[in-house]
Amino acid sequence: MSSQPLRPVPGPDDASEPFWEACARHEFLLQYCGACGAVRFPPRPMCPACNSFDSEWRPASGRGRIWSWVIAHPPVLPAFADRTPYNVIVVELDEGVRMIGNLLDVPNDQIAEGMEVEIAWEDVEDGVSLPAWRPAS
Ligand code: ZN
Repeated sequence: MSSQPLRPVPGPDDASEPFWEACARHEFLLQYCGACGAVRFPPRPMCPACNSFDSEWRPASGRGRIWSWVIAHPPVLPAFADRTPYNVIVVELDEGVRMIGNLLDVPNDQIAEGMEVEIAWEDVEDGVSLPAWRPAS
């Protein structure tokens, strides 16, 4: 029996499966409306702007700025206990949507609003990679 509880991983649905499959290849894609072109994040079947069910996937910039963040302290899920205190940031992508993730390689007390970040990858298990962030190069 493992002493380390398993980290929860995404459970893709029909709308988000292309996103997570791309993440496993370390490709960062965003869903766009096939009718009006609005970016759709998180992935979903219907466009909130025009109600179209058409969509397409395009490579994203993988760049953005920190919009907000929190530092998680215990109690947390057992799988995250040895990571505390850890950050959870909200990134405003260059494409205009916001996404949550962890910022890597930066001490928590040096995180700042507006910090430029770029996509990084955390390989958590075979076939599952999570988008994360690091300072932009
Ligand atoms: Zn639309």
